[in-house]
Amino acid sequence: MIQENIIAIRQELPPEVKLVAVSKFHPVEAIREAYAAGQRAFGENRPQEFAKKVEELKDLSDLEFHFIGHLQTNKLKLVLPYAHLVQSVDSQHLLDAIQDWGKANGKVISVLLELHIGAEQTKTGFKEEEILDILFRANKYTHIRFCGLMGMATHTDCEEDIRADFARIADFRAYLQDLFPELADFRELSIGMSEDWKIALEYGATIVRIGTAIFGERQY
Ligand SMILES: *Cc1c(COP(=O)(O)O)cnc(C)c1O
Repeated sequence: MIQENIIAIRQELPPEVKLVAVSKFHPVEAIREAYAAGQRAFGENRPQEFAKKVEELKDLSDLEFHFIGHLQTNKLKLVLPYAHLVQSVDSQHLLDAIQDWGKANGKVISVLLELHIGAEQTKTGFKEEEILDILFRANKYTHIRFCGLMGMATHTDCEEDIRADFARIADFRAYLQDLFPELADFRELSIGMSEDWKIALEYGATIVRIGTAIFGERQY
């Protein structure tokens, strides 16, 4: 099923949109199955599980691991050496810690800044003004590559609400690109999950993060 699901989704994705298969809570065998269908980018949201899977899959040298969950600063070493992209930078404290880690380890870390767009208070992410404040000081982050924005729409059946969330983050990305043309890498828009990725494409998603629609329900 995993292979059929990937092939079906790929057929509907424009070629320039990156599919990140969210493999959290699924075993490495599921990742290998997806790999056999040509999938290379995977998303994980827990540092321990991320590091374990990187280790267990190191025979597949062209895998790309994205970190998409809450990252505590005492877990950076489990994630930063291996992450292709940290999609979920959601606090000034975390950003500063990533900068320090990058400097200490001679590595530039690619990140997305997470914008809080959903209605849920429980969701993480920055406010618009906090992101502006960071990007005005982008020079200071010598070991961070700012690659764009990530967001999670409100979890709802109301399509209008989802559209409003996606429109807000898409407009904000466009605004930032105009304001900071010197940030040449700032172009990604990571929006869209199993339930709403088709809508996200209409708003210019460059990355979609899809778990359940590929791997089935997660067993927590
Ligand atoms: C789990 C998760 C996803 C994937 O969710 P599905 O609904 O299973 O597709 C995408 N993005 C983030 C940040 C997640 O935590």
